[in-house]
Amino acid sequence: MDELPLKGALSDELLNPKSQYGILMQDGKIVKIAPFKEIETFASEIDAKRIDIPKNSVVIPGMIDAHTHICWAGSRERDYALRNAGVSYLEIAAQGGGIWDTVTQTRAASLQTLVELTKQRANQLLQQGITTIEVKSGYGLSVEEELKIMRAIDSANTQTQADLIATCLAAHIFPKDYDGSPSDYLDEIAQKLLPVLKVEDLCHRVDAFLEQEAFNASTLKPYIEKAKELGFDSCIHADQFSVGGSSFAVEMESLSADHLEASGHLEIDLLAKSDTVAVALPGASIGLGVQFTPARKLLDAGACLAIATDWNPGSAPMGHLLTQASILGSYEKLSNAELLAGITFRAAFALNLKDRGILRAGLKADMIVFPTDDYRRIFYTQGRLNPSHIIKSGTLIP
Ligand SMILES: [Zn+2]
Repeated sequence: MDELPLKGALSDELLNPKSQYGILMQDGKIVKIAPFKEIETFASEIDAKRIDIPKNSVVIPGMIDAHTHICWAGSRERDYALRNAGVSYLEIAAQGGGIWDTVTQTRAASLQTLVELTKQRANQLLQQGITTIEVKSGYGLSVEEELKIMRAIDSANTQTQADLIATCLAAHIFPKDYDGSPSDYLDEIAQKLLPVLKVEDLCHRVDAFLEQEAFNASTLKPYIEKAKELGFDSCIHADQFSVGGSSFAVEMESLSADHLEASGHLEIDLLAKSDTVAVALPGASIGLGVQFTPARKLLDAGACLAIATDWNPGSAPMGHLLTQASILGSYEKLSNAELLAGITFRAAFALNLKDRGILRAGLKADMIVFPTDDYRRIFYTQGRLNPSHIIKSGTLIP
């Protein structure tokens, strides 16, 4: 795969796969990519260890899931069944379901339980070939409980070979047990939680949900500004059911605007002209049974499009990136190159990670191997083809 543009539509001709090549890795990084004979000579000079890949294999960069909520306790299959039986969001919440149900169960879980659950889910993603996983908090919704979740993500990161990129989503929904206004709550988070996250080096990203059921732009603006002052990058849950979030994300110079199922041409144009990555979350569309993010229109307008699972217990319970990207591809008419870019280097850009997402000398040796002689089979099989080898920072994952 040669250098591909960061933004806009991509045709498969741009992929230009190389055959009979080898990859030399050292200290977790790619040192050289060259015809196999050349690599063999180099490798024997430095007495390198070999990872033999069978003939008829395709190597791609380790996949990157740029949006997950995998640090939670409890389960929400009841919500899913009720929703599919036609019960409304508000009725489900009134019956004790919804995000607040997960908040209650996550608050009741110990730090150790959350570490274990997060590690298990991260390892499931790693087995799919996802070597970098963004993980949001957001089921604590108080200074203390959000801190517990951020510490759990940090600890899980030391216990899995995948890289976990933590994001503080204390601005997920307004906690109904908070004594004060939404502004008071966010002010308290900004004053009492964000500085601790800095001191303990638990994360350098904040996320916020801009939606009628969550927070509005005027409440979020001072919070995101304060987070930026403290040195946090931001991303926004935007345009999921109504518009407004994407223009706010662009105004805040957020790294990404995620969801966008409700985005129209104005939002698409705005995103395309900005450096804010549009993140499609097909798992949420499949989970809720609603329309997909207008991925084709975003790419044609010139936006940078990443694709992520949004794995969470409520709206997106599947947690399978290749399946979801493949389905988005067939509904939105996306090329293999666009899908591949969306789960590799464009996802890395959404996370502001410049050291991965592409097979190139100097970058992290994160790569996966599929047992096929035709790379198009990866999306054609819609998630059924599993990687035969997963290599994280130069190490073969068992
Ligand atoms: Zn989400």
